Amino acid sequence: MKTLYITHPACRLHEMGDWHPESPGRLDAINDQLVANGAMQWLGAMTAITAADHDLLRVHSPEYLAHLRARAPQCGYVELDPDTIMNCHTLEAAYAAAGAGITAVDAIMRGEAQTAFCAVRPPGHHASSDQALGFCFFNNLAVAVAYTLEKYKLSRVAIVDFDVHHGNGTEEIFAGNHKVLMCSFYQHPFFPNVHTQKHVKNMLNVPVSAQSDGSAIRRLVDERWLPRLREFRPEFIFVSAGFDAHREDEMAQLGMVEDDYAWITRQIVEVAEETAKGRIVSFLEGGYSLPALGRSVVAHVRALAKL
Ligand SMILES: [Zn+2]
Repeated sequence: MKTLYITHPACRLHEMGDWHPESPGRLDAINDQLVANGAMQWLGAMTAITAADHDLLRVHSPEYLAHLRARAPQCGYVELDPDTIMNCHTLEAAYAAAGAGITAVDAIMRGEAQTAFCAVRPPGHHASSDQALGFCFFNNLAVAVAYTLEKYKLSRVAIVDFDVHHGNGTEEIFAGNHKVLMCSFYQHPFFPNVHTQKHVKNMLNVPVSAQSDGSAIRRLVDERWLPRLREFRPEFIFVSAGFDAHREDEMAQLGMVEDDYAWITRQIVEVAEETAKGRIVSFLEGGYSLPALGRSVVAHVRALAKL
């Protein structure tokens, strides 16, 4: 099974200060481990296209796009909130990160691959239709989902989010959309603390307590996610792949390891093969322990490629 690796040089240029954990070094750590493990020899490398405004406008408001453009600095930094900061390359990086999913979906729908991993930053799942939050500016995954539904006229698309934080932006954008099912778990109570409890039918949110380990996560995936995914019968699966639930990641307090990421990914691949012709596009979200991030992405892409 061919797996694509999609990134863009601009994604390294966005940075929010030397102290900031969401750093360009994250992409270097991923690249280093993929090279060291030989994965770069079989991954199909592609450069992301830059998203067009009309692609972003499927999920973001025109006022929000105008706001980001007005705030983007010529030099130095501009804080949208204390954690979410723009430099002179942020917009370029954000447009490329949002374009990566479109590049991936088109290649997969052309039959050139079945799965893709988008190694992009800024990440996306905290960005809602009209607000940047938690290191995120555009919701990269949501842009790709909306594009896929419109261009390829699919009727059922699933989103799986295994970042340690709740994908509040993705939820806000797709809550109540009957073409979309979102399955997630996240440490709770924890940032962004906007757990909605809305009981929206197409949102399967499973909060987990701090200190939960990989076996607890596997159990909830097995008992909660997989039956809902199989019942929904998605035609395409999108993944918010954050690796900050790793036990070496100091951003949070969960206990996952590489094998758990490989196992979850294999379950998603199985569902995709049953109902979605194997089609999966995965997006880098969090993951801040650089060694653990690199190793976990290797485990994830190997499972995407069924190796
Ligand atoms: Zn996260």
